[in-house]
Amino acid sequence: MKIKRIAHLGVAVSDLDSAMKFFTEGLPLEVTHTEDYQGMKIAFIPIGDSSVELLQDVSGSSAIKKFLDKNGEGIHHIAYEVDDINQAISELKAKGIKLIDEKPRQGAHGMSVAFMHPKATHGILMELCQTSSDDH
Ligand code: ZN
Repeated sequence: MKIKRIAHLGVAVSDLDSAMKFFTEGLPLEVTHTEDYQGMKIAFIPIGDSSVELLQDVSGSSAIKKFLDKNGEGIHHIAYEVDDINQAISELKAKGIKLIDEKPRQGAHGMSVAFMHPKATHGILMELCQTSSDDH
């Protein structure tokens, strides 16, 4: 398994429009992609080789809703880009590292993703992702 970079930081927000305004007007950054995904609204804001992924609940029952109820706004997960997500999953499983997703699934932005269990990662929700193309 090769971990290539921090692909993005997932940030849970209660109001996506207001968060995007902060990142684009308060900070000199740009939103390059927005998407509706599994009961959430998501916005991607590139910073160098990484991005901030803003996540807002819209369904009232997404993972972000549960997180916001418990913790309020803040960093929700860290995503690492790997060169081969299937290989990464089998290596972690072979080492006994607990995963939430034992098979890759379709994530936002056309990526294949799998989450590791925060109990196995010292409290941080970690996402492995593999982009389908190199131009991400
Ligand atoms: Zn993510």
